[in-house]
Amino acid sequence: MASLRSVKGMNDLFGVEALSLGAVESLARNLAKRWGAEEVRTPVLEKLDLFVRSVGEATDVVGKEMYAFEDKDGSQLCLRPEATASVARMLVQHGILRDHPRFRAFYAGPMFRRERPQKGRYRQFHQVGVEFFGEPEPSADVEVIALAAAILDALGLDDVVVELGSVGCPECRPSYREQLVAFLRQEADQLCELCNQRTETNPLRCLDCKSASCQAVYGDAPLPLDHLCDACDQHQAGVEKGLDRLGLDYRVNKRLVRGLDYYRRTVFECTTQKLGAQSAVIAGGRYDGLLGSVGGDEGVAAVGFAAGTERLQLLAREAGTEAGLSPADVAIVTDRNQGVDEALVLMQGLRASGLVVVADLSDRGRKAKTKWLGRTTHRHSLFLEADGSARLRLQGMETQAVHPEIAAILQVLSSN
Ligand code: ATP
Ligand code: MG
Repeated sequence: MASLRSVKGMNDLFGVEALSLGAVESLARNLAKRWGAEEVRTPVLEKLDLFVRSVGEATDVVGKEMYAFEDKDGSQLCLRPEATASVARMLVQHGILRDHPRFRAFYAGPMFRRERPQKGRYRQFHQVGVEFFGEPEPSADVEVIALAAAILDALGLDDVVVELGSVGCPECRPSYREQLVAFLRQEADQLCELCNQRTETNPLRCLDCKSASCQAVYGDAPLPLDHLCDACDQHQAGVEKGLDRLGLDYRVNKRLVRGLDYYRRTVFECTTQKLGAQSAVIAGGRYDGLLGSVGGDEGVAAVGFAAGTERLQLLAREAGTEAGLSPADVAIVTDRNQGVDEALVLMQGLRASGLVVVADLSDRGRKAKTKWLGRTTHRHSLFLEADGSARLRLQGMETQAVHPEIAAILQVLSSN
């Protein structure tokens, strides 16, 4: 029978890969807690409509990259491509904001996008992220960016740049959008096919085009940051002032836009040169009004970010700060299958005292067991002999015969 393989772009994680991905998630989780965020978990399957209404049909994420299908009862479902819309839906569905008008959420988990797989880009990937709801003040944007910076800092990633921009609000964006569309139509024959399509569907996204010839044209394009209304301008000034006050480095990028429709005012991206085309590690901003698109109160403010967990992990690996597998504290080997019960009791005690214990209690001979020990990373090892005696080898020391009394052995091991 042909061997079965995982779905393209969906990775099995084991060994150091699994461990260090988990370590990045824990690090982000612990930092988010310091910012007052509570962990939430939403399902990986959602109704398709959720993302169509919030993220927007004209976006790549929804228009091209979704795993959508019809369920047996005819409902249109999809694997979530991101979590912000899901968290917003959860808040509305459970009326959480009634009791907590300011609610800070943290999430970690897999997301699904049907993209061309490459380094740092997969079809099942992971994100950690936060959403702060009910906080319209620029100070919330500052806190969100400070948390993103703290995660990068804790991973020792000092070559990641925070880029900051603003895409305006429903007051100022329509007139800016018109000016931009007029400009894009005028330059249509200089632009790539995708930009010509986007001129009609999602014009702001043109500014994000990867093609050098398009970018040359956009040197003269009207830019969102130059067309903000007074309120958006003040908000932006507030964010910059707060970041300055914290001494956080950032670069104002006038042409920064985001791929999803729900952004309003602040947008930011933490970028690196180290992952080739996959330069964005963390992306976020403000999305006041998002709750309205999922059936909630249009007036609720929201700001947050999503970080690509694998991209953080890859960068941590390059920086030499990736978490590694740690050795077991004790490896126990029996003489064939003699003394298995005693070994189990001993292991139970050692584990209760917090030690990591691995063992080979099988019927295999000494040679196989010695080989197993050689392959198993451990600090101390203990041979339990058939006659009830025991030999202990503490890390970096010679093997010694020890008193078979379990209590005595426990004491020796726990003190190390
Ligand atoms: P990109 O421009 O790289 O496609 P994006 O704008 O689609 O990113 P967002 O939707 O903002 O990304 O997601 C936030 C973060 O999630 C990204 O900055 C990136 O680190 C990570 N990410 C997005 N798509 C993938 C993917 N297919 N594989 C791995 N990580 C991803
Ligand atoms: Mg993308």
